[in-house]
Amino acid sequence: MEIDWSVIDKKWQKRWSENNDHETDSNDKEKKFITVAYPYPNSPQHIGHGRTYTITDVHSRYLRMKGFNVLFPMGFHYTGTPILGMAKRVEANDTELIEAFKTLYKVPEDKIKEFVEPVKIADYFHEEIKSGMIEMGYSIDWRREFTTIDPAYQKFIEWQFRNLKEKNLIVQGSHPVGWCPKDQNPVSQHDTLGDVEPDFTEYIVIKFDLNGVKIPVATLRPETLFGVTNIWINPEVTYQKIKVNDEIWITSPECARKLEFLGKKIEVIENISGSDFVGQSAKAPHNSNSTVILPASFVKSDNGTGIVMSVPAHAPFDYQALLDCKSGKNKSINSDLLSNIQNIEPISMINTEGLGNIPAKDIVERMEISHQDDPKLEDATKEIYSKEFYEGILADNTKQFAGKKISETKDEIKEWVTEIGSTDILLELTNSPVKCRCGAECVVKLLSNQWFLDYSNKDWKDKAHSCFEKMNIFPNEIRPEFDQVLDWLRERACARQHGLGTKVPWDKEWLVESLADSVIYMAFYIISKYVNKKEINGNDLTDEFFDYIFYGGKDSGKIANKINTTKEKLEEIRNEFVYFYPVDARHSGRDLVPNHLTFFVLNHVAIFPEENWPQEIVVNGSVLMGGKKMSKSMGNIIPLRDAVRKYGADPIRLTILISAELLQDADFNAEAINGIKNKLEAMYKDSTKIKAEKITELEPEDKWILSMLQNLASNVSQSMDKIRLREALHHILYGFDSELQWYLKRTKSKQRVNISGILHKIFSNRVLMLSPFAPHIADEIWEKLGNTELASKSAWPSSVGIEIDPTAIQTETLLKSIIDDINNILKVTKISPKKITIYTAEQWKSKAYSSILKNVLDNQTNLGTIIKSLIANKETEQIKKDPDFVKKTLNDILSDPIELRKGRMDINKIDEKQIISSELTSLVKNDYNVELDVFSESDSSKYDPKNKAKTARPFKPAILIE
Ligand SMILES: [Zn+2]
Repeated sequence: MEIDWSVIDKKWQKRWSENNDHETDSNDKEKKFITVAYPYPNSPQHIGHGRTYTITDVHSRYLRMKGFNVLFPMGFHYTGTPILGMAKRVEANDTELIEAFKTLYKVPEDKIKEFVEPVKIADYFHEEIKSGMIEMGYSIDWRREFTTIDPAYQKFIEWQFRNLKEKNLIVQGSHPVGWCPKDQNPVSQHDTLGDVEPDFTEYIVIKFDLNGVKIPVATLRPETLFGVTNIWINPEVTYQKIKVNDEIWITSPECARKLEFLGKKIEVIENISGSDFVGQSAKAPHNSNSTVILPASFVKSDNGTGIVMSVPAHAPFDYQALLDCKSGKNKSINSDLLSNIQNIEPISMINTEGLGNIPAKDIVERMEISHQDDPKLEDATKEIYSKEFYEGILADNTKQFAGKKISETKDEIKEWVTEIGSTDILLELTNSPVKCRCGAECVVKLLSNQWFLDYSNKDWKDKAHSCFEKMNIFPNEIRPEFDQVLDWLRERACARQHGLGTKVPWDKEWLVESLADSVIYMAFYIISKYVNKKEINGNDLTDEFFDYIFYGGKDSGKIANKINTTKEKLEEIRNEFVYFYPVDARHSGRDLVPNHLTFFVLNHVAIFPEENWPQEIVVNGSVLMGGKKMSKSMGNIIPLRDAVRKYGADPIRLTILISAELLQDADFNAEAINGIKNKLEAMYKDSTKIKAEKITELEPEDKWILSMLQNLASNVSQSMDKIRLREALHHILYGFDSELQWYLKRTKSKQRVNISGILHKIFSNRVLMLSPFAPHIADEIWEKLGNTELASKSAWPSSVGIEIDPTAIQTETLLKSIIDDINNILKVTKISPKKITIYTAEQWKSKAYSSILKNVLDNQTNLGTIIKSLIANKETEQIKKDPDFVKKTLNDILSDPIELRKGRMDINKIDEKQIISSELTSLVKNDYNVELDVFSESDSSKYDPKNKAKTARPFKPAILIE
């Protein structure tokens, strides 16, 4: 039988929508406010996007079934430049993009023509994404939907910005930013290809002097100035003589461009070949020593200034390049120069335990490096650099710094090189090349008189740290990442020149940047409902209105009057905010940890009082497609709506969730989704056959299966509370199969006909647990089970109304283990049984068993000690006759699960002989078609031809198969 998934999807989506099941207002129940990063509508959603939203939906639905009043809203983020870039590409008739719109995203041609207007792109994909979310069954309150270019939202962002500025958290200044030279806009993660956040490193520029012309070198290690022997230049590179403010410098053309972005006035005077400088000497700034300029191919023109100072004792590149020069193979070195440089020797100036006097020499020799273009030199450099930085002590020739550690003297050294004059700063992209979405390569720009969020403010950081300390973070292992991000955050540009969005309220030339207008919008979901219902008008909203809603106050009548609404309505909005805030969970992909999620916390602690700080963050990894990363170029992107049409919503939801816990990458593949579909169809089929009959008197196996059901419910609830959804889903779908099989086997052998009520109870509870994950099929099965209310509106079965029965668990475990033992014996001996005899242990062994078990539970597992204590006791002294018994029983106990051990302490008096004869006889007859005889070891008239009875132990009866 096959399920028509699309019929079931539509049936239940219609029902939920007609009942307004997901619309939530404040009421007298306890609330949960669950939010997820809103989508950026520049393309339809694919399977990968589906993961975060599905996790959020499962979380919301679970909490709803737990009895909370759950609000799960959604908005659409129009702000920013990517949509703008797309519109420009459509206008320029970019065939690649237009082809993707047509074939991959199936956008009608007349729509694509409209895409020259950015808002049309956003509006189109907004509707696509929203339809996809409805088709996936997400339990969203759509009455609160908005876009970030709605007038009310813009008023809200203006309020947020004025608020931060009043608190001095938005400052004007000059700070470095990642920058697209083509768009003339700062860039952050969302603006770059591959979503990389531009990161930069600060280099110190030290200027040597060549007859009044500056020879600048960029370094991260200014202290090595004491070990300089020469300067490197690349003879193949054409350098530029440039005027930098009032000085004349020699640099690579790339460096000249970088300096310009860093705010220097640059004038190019002439081009000069690097080879022209070989053999000339420049004066070092700290001691005026004459320092010869030598050729080196490892020096790259796009790195630093394109000129390098040489510290051959401590820098492997320099050491090797010096050897290459001295060897005479370098054509740019004439014979005079060659003989002059033979006496250049490395100057050691750092002592590090474990490294020799000339560390660079040692490592070059150890790694068998023979020329300066060997890639191994990178590793060699890293190894020495970090060891010297943390453990190195500056040597006597470093004068005032002698005896100090580099890591501890870093700032002092920086101050000193600045004091001797002739220094500057150069900022370089650490993770270059970073490409803007427009294709241009990004640079670091020193942005002057721009608006920055002052994320370097220490008080602000401290407050955010304390918020993180009190928050739940799922999974908790990601917590240190947030602390690191907070620590390295600095001023962040929060305005842009182009794009959609809100104007900076006091400087209308600028637009609020997209990561700055998306940090506290969860609060806006309260207001958007009233805007959408037209009970307030977005254009009317004032700062006083937002102050009142978010902070409260007395003047509600006056404020209401000004925005054309009633005092009562205003107070209602305020009350709803008080009810729903703070945010109880924020869901997002892991890529938003270093930006959005951290900014979300920073802005909340800045704007809201502590009682409204966020409570929880949930982070998830990405989705792979058949083990591979999803990308347009791989051609393996499946739009979410296509997938829903092909597979149905629930199979997609489960396939995404069952392959991975939060932080791992999930995998989507055809085999997995077929497996899920088969499992759901089997559950559906089984459930439709069951009637809700009354449960009458319970037999041992009934008590056992119901105890196991209660266990399942507890385990699943625990996994759900930890947002371990993969684990929970495994329990629900597969974790009960072997129990159910055993139960059916037992009841069949007893020829029972009255189990329908029990099975109904089992299937009903399983379906309830399935409901947050697969809401459509769960409601369908629930209906087939004869319920009128929806599964999705029923209570979560934390308890299934059953007391766990320890005796039933012990009994059934015993019976199962006997059947396992019989099967194992048959497998090994390969005999076809004619008769089976079971012998249970005699009474004194039970006493000894209890005593051994008590020792184990008290963490006493020493065999000698246990034997001594047993012999000392009159009741168990018989073990003297059978010392092997203690060893074997101890092993039995140790191989049992801990939960089972404890249970056996409580009920060590179960009558094994009686249970086995009454419960197992029919099963043995049924399974092996033989008679079963059961004796106690102590029965005098027992049938025991092989003398087996004496090997019986409690919970481990002896078995004779003939
Ligand atoms: Zn660009």
